[in-house]
Amino acid sequence: MEPRDLSAHTVYQAGRGVEEVARELGLNPDDLVKLASNENPFGPSPAAVEAIREAAASANSYPKASHADLREKLADRWSVAPEQVWLGNGGDGVLDYLARAALEPGDTVLVPTPGFAYYGMSARFHHGEVAEYELSKDDGFALDAETVLDAYDGERVVYLTSPHNPSGGRFSLGSVETIADETDDQTLVVVDEAYGEFADAPSAVELLEGRDDIAVLRTFSKVYGLAGVRLGYGIVPDEWADAYGRVNTPFAASEIACRAGLAALDDRDHAEKTVETAAWAREYIAENLDAPTWESHANFVLAEVGDGSAVADELQRRGIIVRDCTSFGLPECVRITCGTEAETRTAVAECNEVLAE
Ligand SMILES: *Cc1c(COP(=O)(O)O)cnc(C)c1O
Repeated sequence: MEPRDLSAHTVYQAGRGVEEVARELGLNPDDLVKLASNENPFGPSPAAVEAIREAAASANSYPKASHADLREKLADRWSVAPEQVWLGNGGDGVLDYLARAALEPGDTVLVPTPGFAYYGMSARFHHGEVAEYELSKDDGFALDAETVLDAYDGERVVYLTSPHNPSGGRFSLGSVETIADETDDQTLVVVDEAYGEFADAPSAVELLEGRDDIAVLRTFSKVYGLAGVRLGYGIVPDEWADAYGRVNTPFAASEIACRAGLAALDDRDHAEKTVETAAWAREYIAENLDAPTWESHANFVLAEVGDGSAVADELQRRGIIVRDCTSFGLPECVRITCGTEAETRTAVAECNEVLAE
């Protein structure tokens, strides 16, 4: 026998890994600069590394206390009830829980294009269908209520990415509110703030008070440098709190992930350094790269370089991995993650040489 018909499903295209590229080029992974997956150039917080080391010895137990503690700590931070915090295996895991909790078979979701591929994938896994709203390059991928509402046709879930991947733009809270107001009572607006910490703007979490139709997604993968442990969370309305226990995979976040998350939240210095360096780097890239870029509020910059895959390939030969945006439907662009100062300067210099060729 065979799996069910998966022809409408697509495979997630991750940015290329350092080890993968190093093996292919016969290089030492340490000699490569990886700016392809919006990872933290400083690694995880040292406190999280220590917590992971310590948690190793108790990996025989199911994570109960740590899971509860992390929900509580996050609830405290966001001034919501712990039940409103849904932990998951990365932000992607939380997207799955939201789809499971929201979708009946055949329900449709509305996703941005270009945009993060996993929204549609997750909806399809949960027997949903996918419609798109188009962000237009001609108006700088503007993120406003009108663009979303013009395309909206009663979908059950609407995904907003703010800051947006791959453009770096963001929605104002006013436009998020307008979208939630103008869509049906039975439409959930998911605001994906995977890069929220990098934006100098308030979180949509503050809109949740008194509303039952907005959920916010956050992750430890980016600012906290914990992409490898897989930890993310959703903040859901009060009315949705009860659904978590009904849809989650038991022990949704591992002992190691929860311990690392708890420690990372306490290391404000690491998060601050990460945010400040990203702010410096995106300005540096915008000012010094010999290619048009879009204003970014995240830890990456989208640049129009002509032939994105050729530029990414040539940079890779020079030991710099950036994200070719062909899979986003932008073959003329690359997305460059903000590195350390040294990495960012090197990447811009190499990229300019490649562009000059
Ligand atoms: C990275 C990212 C996520 C979440 O990634 P996880 O590693 O699963 O937490 C979600 N949305 C966007 C737009 C992202 O770029």
